[in-house]
Formats: sequence, structure tokens, C-alpha cells
Amino acid sequence: MSRFWSELTHRLSPYTPGEQPRMPNLVKLNTNEHPLGPSPRALEAIRAEAGDSLRLYPDPQATALRETLAAYHGLTPDQVFIGNGSDEVLAHTFAALLKQSGPLLFPDITYSFYPVYCGLFDIAYETVPLDAAMQVQIADYRRKCGAIILANPNAPTGTALSRAQIAQLLDEHADIPVVIDEAYVDFGAESAVPLIASHPNLLVVHTLSKSRALAGLRVGYALGDAALIQGLNRVKDSFNSYPLGRPAQAGAIAAIKDEAYFQQGRAIVIAGRERLVAGLAQLGFEVLPSAANFVFARHPGHEGKALAAELRARAIIVRHFNAPRISDHLRITVGTNEQVETLLAALGEIVGG
Ligand SMILES: *Cc1c(COP(=O)(O)O)cnc(C)c1O
Repeated sequence: MSRFWSELTHRLSPYTPGEQPRMPNLVKLNTNEHPLGPSPRALEAIRAEAGDSLRLYPDPQATALRETLAAYHGLTPDQVFIGNGSDEVLAHTFAALLKQSGPLLFPDITYSFYPVYCGLFDIAYETVPLDAAMQVQIADYRRKCGAIILANPNAPTGTALSRAQIAQLLDEHADIPVVIDEAYVDFGAESAVPLIASHPNLLVVHTLSKSRALAGLRVGYALGDAALIQGLNRVKDSFNSYPLGRPAQAGAIAAIKDEAYFQQGRAIVIAGRERLVAGLAQLGFEVLPSAANFVFARHPGHEGKALAAELRARAIIVRHFNAPRISDHLRITVGTNEQVETLLAALGEIVGG
């Protein structure tokens, strides 16, 4: 606290990112990073940019990257917006599209950055409870509102709506912006991207942090009708014209073009998730059906906070949220096969012994 803070700064309640501890031999399963490294071609492209050209500003429009993403998704470059991680894309989206006269709707349990942005941009919002099975019911969104944002798959639950359900949501709310945050879509959910052509109110947000193993590079993007993208650019160019450096633009292009590496990494994570789900079930955990690179699980006989602490004592970090409805759950990232086995062995000691 300082008397030099603005009134806004006093009012903010910032997001708490998953911790990045500096412990040796840590089994780090708390922030949904990819267990494998990025594409070797992406690393090569990043290294190639570490030269004299860094003297010069990067392309403010990230034209080559937008062209690559447009071709990848079957869209045009004016339907693509680039940001410094999808968190930044989301921030601009909240300012450009989600501040309307009616309240913004999102689930009571979802990405906890959404209410933070509402605080920063002074956006009125209402949360819509997930059903008893912790799923989003689109019928619950049939109410007066100014905009809707959903993470699909949802975080931290990992459950997903089908494309048909998203299409129905879009049809029922054709007059307001609807944003679908697909940070985890590549691990097993249906993307809403094919609905962009028929729904000018749809913005889909993606990131290279999760399925492309590039959380450290900070690249995210949004796809939607060119008019929506234009709105995002107005906000971006009022904030930071050069959000992505040269290495990030080059690395992202190479990562998107390395389809074989991407597919291989996805398959490994999905297989690891299946092993993790089976192992947790065997230990008596209730595990939500996950379409993401993490699972959300609780044990009927153990408190979430205690489980997280016991794991931490064994140098295994998972995410625990001290929040209503989910305080007994753990969100566990799918790690390497070895990490999955280490975690299951530790949980076996804790809940079995
Ligand atoms: C991880 C995550 C993001 C942010 O990813 P960036 O690293 O900022 O691209 C956005 N939305 C959800 C739901 C996430 O889990």
C-alpha cells in the first residue's frame, strides 16, 4: 500500500499465477506446461533471430505469423489477432468486446483471470454456476447479458462442450459477443473455429503455451470476424504496438508449421492423461472427464489442501484452489510418464497408507 497508488491500483485484486518454485528435482505439475520441449524447428528459428536484427523493432502486425495461422486454420490474415500470450489477447478482448451495457457472463468455476480483468476494466459480470456434475449447461446462459466468455475445455475442471453446443450458444446469443478460450482444445475437444464463418459474434482465443510447449515464448492469438479483429487492434495499438519480439514471431511460425512434432506431443500427453486418470481412479479418486492436459480430481476421504501439502513434502507440486465448491479438488498437470508414476506412487502412500 502506498499513498502514491492510484485509486484503481487500490481497488485491484490481481491474478495469482501458479508458482514457479526453484527447487531441485521438483515434479512440477501445477501450471499445465507441456512435459516435452518445444519443436526443435521452433528453437532453431528462435536462435536464428538472435542477431543484429534485434536492433530493429519487430513487425508490429506480425504479418508472417498471421498469414501462417490463417492458412493453418483456413481463415484470412485479417481474421487473426496476435498477442503476448493469450492472457494479453484476453485483456484486449475484455476491453474491446466484453465491456457492454449488460453484464458479462462466465461460469462460477473457470479461469480465475476473468474476474481480474473485469476489475481492471470495470466490467460488470455475473457468474453462472456449473451444474452438480461441474459441467457448463448452456441453457443456464439464457438470461439478459451483454457478453459471454467460456473456456472450452473449461479450466480448472477440464470438461468440454461439443461444437454443436457452442453453435447453439452462439445462435441463442447472436446479438452479443461470445468468446471461447480454447487454451486446451488441442488435447481432445472440438474447436469452435469452423463456426467463425457463420457467426460474426464469435471470437476464439488460442495459445502456444500449452499444446505447443512454448509457455516461455509468450504467444497467443484470437480468431474471428475481421470486424472483431479490427476492434482488438484498436485497443492493442492504444497499449503496445509491438507485443511480440522477433524471436517470438519466428519461433511461433516454425512451431505452427511443425505439424508432425505437434501431433506426436499431443498423442503423448493424451496417453499420459489416460494413465493418470486410470491410476487416480484405482486409488479411489473421483476424476472429472478431461479433454485437457490436466485432470481435476478429489478423494472422498481426504481434504484437498492436506493432499497438496503432503505432495509438496515429497517435492511434487500440483494446483490447489482455496475456493468454494473446489477446495477438495486438485488440478494435476499431465507430466512425463515418469512424473505420472512418481505422483501416483506418492498418492498411493498418502491415501493408501
Ligand atoms: C493458460 C491459460 C491461458 C493463458 O495462456 P498464455 O500463456 O497467456 O497464452 C488462457 N486461458 C486459459 C483458460 C488458460 O488455462
